[in-house]
Amino acid sequence: RAELERMPDWLRRPIGNASDISAVQRIVKERQIHTICEEGRCPNRGECYANRTATFLLMGSVCTRACSFCQVEKGHAPMTLDPHEPEKVAESVRLLGLRYVVLTAVARDDLPDHGASWFATVMHTIRQENPGTEIEVLTPDFWGGTSRDAGQTDRVQTVVAAKPACYNHNLETVRRLQDPVRRGAKYDRSLRVLSLVKAFDPSMPTKSGLMVGHGETEAELIEAMQDLREVGCDRITIGQYMRPSLDHRPVDRYWTPEEFTQLGEIAQELGFEHVRSGPLVRSSYHAGEAP
Ligand code: SF4
Ligand code: SF4
Repeated sequence: RAELERMPDWLRRPIGNASDISAVQRIVKERQIHTICEEGRCPNRGECYANRTATFLLMGSVCTRACSFCQVEKGHAPMTLDPHEPEKVAESVRLLGLRYVVLTAVARDDLPDHGASWFATVMHTIRQENPGTEIEVLTPDFWGGTSRDAGQTDRVQTVVAAKPACYNHNLETVRRLQDPVRRGAKYDRSLRVLSLVKAFDPSMPTKSGLMVGHGETEAELIEAMQDLREVGCDRITIGQYMRPSLDHRPVDRYWTPEEFTQLGEIAQELGFEHVRSGPLVRSSYHAGEAP
């Protein structure tokens, strides 16, 4: 409560068009599929739905990892894959008239290919029903299994072969804060995902996201941006971490809108071709407007 009271004004925003929001809620709930927009009660829903964009969360809403910032459910057994999920998502895309879809997933370290082929199947099914819709993916790091780096390589290749319009994988935070913020993920493993995408298809745009407010310094953020540029990352989102509940990691500080503008300028100077930096920016925010 104290934290909510301290939340600066620039993080409050009107909820948006209630009928757009209830249409999404109804269609998604009826089919027992999930979106990050609704699951995380994202503050940008009004805007994104009006722009015909949404982010689907595939393979259930329970994660096998437990990052300290993330509102996705964890700690229970992961859900069995719903064999009809691809058609249900494709049908929802059509009913909602979505022009740009982001597909993401919980980390499914329990599945043999960590869900990589499921991404490809869902993409294929969406395109069959919605040939004009563009699809961006936001994948887990796909790390794990017996031969860890080879496994990651194969899984990334599977998703790249399905030709997303953009391949997004979030670094989330600076090198020093990876362990307390993310669980089971590592800075270099995440950079490796982005570099593999470029190795398989140099023309495929890649994207990553940083959350600020975990105690990082500007110098550390610049280092992270430089590391992303080193692996050829083309696009970046920078947004404020907001604590989903008291069980989650506390916010260290709220960066001001002016500081976000400054970080965005630095990103541009470092050569990112598409930069979104602002308190309410999320990794799928305005995704469909990328060049
Ligand atoms: Fe959904 Fe992303 Fe838009 Fe939020 S920013 S409403 S999660 S598409
Ligand atoms: Fe959330 Fe992804 Fe971490 Fe799972 S791996 S807890 S979905 S951020």
